[in-house]
Amino acid sequence: MMLRKALMTTQSEPVDVAGSKVSIVGVGQVGMACAFALLTQKVCSELALVDNVEDRLLGETMDLQHGSTFLRNSKISCSTDYAVTTKSKLCIVTAGVRQKPDESRLDLVQRNTDVFKNIIPQLIKYSPETVLLIVSNPVDILTYVAWKLSGLPRNRVIGSGTTLDSSRFRVFISERLKVAPSSVHGWIIGEHGDSSVPVWSGVNVAGVRLRDLNPNIGTENDPENWKEIHQQVVNSAYEVIKLKGYTSWAIGLSVANIAQAILGNSLSVMPVSTYIKGCKHGMDKEVFLSLPCVLGENGVTHIIKQPLTEEEKAQLHRSANMMYEIQSGLSW
Ligand code: NAD
Repeated sequence: MMLRKALMTTQSEPVDVAGSKVSIVGVGQVGMACAFALLTQKVCSELALVDNVEDRLLGETMDLQHGSTFLRNSKISCSTDYAVTTKSKLCIVTAGVRQKPDESRLDLVQRNTDVFKNIIPQLIKYSPETVLLIVSNPVDILTYVAWKLSGLPRNRVIGSGTTLDSSRFRVFISERLKVAPSSVHGWIIGEHGDSSVPVWSGVNVAGVRLRDLNPNIGTENDPENWKEIHQQVVNSAYEVIKLKGYTSWAIGLSVANIAQAILGNSLSVMPVSTYIKGCKHGMDKEVFLSLPCVLGENGVTHIIKQPLTEEEKAQLHRSANMMYEIQSGLSW
């Protein structure tokens, strides 16, 4: 303190600006990929990390802190005590058990529900105004679980949903068309997982709908077999997990993108998991699934009314019924 006084004359003390504080629960592969993307893309002014394994938590935090010279002056802190998350604008939950090779996301559900019973009330205690972003799998059901446990309005509880699936979809289409992934516009909606719905009717490049050029695109009768692209999307998590044991970088980048929209109040439209009962498409079940959502500081402000074919609607309903059935079997 004395040296500090000798070094500089005080005009005013730094203000503790509310800023854009983000907390991440779970410093495993996914949590750290999210942290790294948030910090390097300068999305948040303050990052708090929580995990129940103290050594790993401290080690990961120190490792990030040692790179602070090269970051915007983000404050990075950690604790096993949730008080460290106080006044977070956004709380990201990546804690939980991860998929084993060949294990479906839905098999994880009860184990991760039990983990959430401990985590969610603590986050809300310290940040009652927060937006909750759930990443742990099965993400749609756990977003529902988080909503129930949190007592937050539905707009403030979001799942990362099919943001990653949609990115994979655009990447695989772009590889075939040989244009940049960001220039391919395509959406995967519904469940993040095996029953996800590719909206082939809307896939376009520069407004040119691929279905206008190939009326059977994505169907069984398509001579070019574009349908396999969706299968590739569904299989890709399993494939990466088989090869390296987990997926991390792409989900980290997806989460940073969602966080940027929320903290920057950008009103960007993204396929995140949201409460869909009563929205378009005749959805009547209390479930969370991905639809194109407008994202701002309050979470989801609107759901875009995307025109869907009868087949796409039927697939979405199948996803919703499956989620509902699994949710009904959960023990609280
Ligand atoms: P991981 O095992 O590497 O990390 C999980 C972390 O959670 C660990 O550090 C563990 O200590 C911590 N944890 C467990 N219980 C806790 C508790 N009660 N409180 C605090 N921390 C706790 O797993 P991972 O590879 O990082 O995956 C994390 C989750 O993300 C999994 O459920 C995985 O399926 C999911 N995931 C989701 C997507 C998506 O698109 N939504 C993509 C990839 C992975």
